Amino acid sequence: MSLDEEDQARMVKQLGGEKAEVCARYWRVSAPLGADTKKSAVVQMKIVSGRCIFYVEDGEGLGGCSIHKARPWRCGQWPLHPAILGDENNFITIRESCPGVNQELSYQEFCSILRELMQQGKIQC
Ligand code: SF4
Repeated sequence: MSLDEEDQARMVKQLGGEKAEVCARYWRVSAPLGADTKKSAVVQMKIVSGRCIFYVEDGEGLGGCSIHKARPWRCGQWPLHPAILGDENNFITIRESCPGVNQELSYQEFCSILRELMQQGKIQC
């Protein structure tokens, strides 16, 4: 998941310290695809043991986001991800993994609601 400038600023503010320190510890920065020097580098959260570096578990195996208040906007919109609109398999995967999704909704109903939210500007792509 890419972090935009606002995501980065929010994380730096919550974590404290300099942006370069936060970057070195928590982010993975890669060149834009195609090495187009006019585009910005892609900044993403590091993955540790197959999970986002901010995911933590307590001693009983309960997990959560350790940076919840400063999480990326894309995380805040989960599970309303635009990728659902292009592929029903994405919908099926997300519905199975997220108990917050109404399990009774059909793919068409979910897409209709998601499109409406996007038209209202409540979901950004
Ligand atoms: S919600 Fe938190 S733990 Fe999950 S991907 Fe986003 S930043 Fe990482």
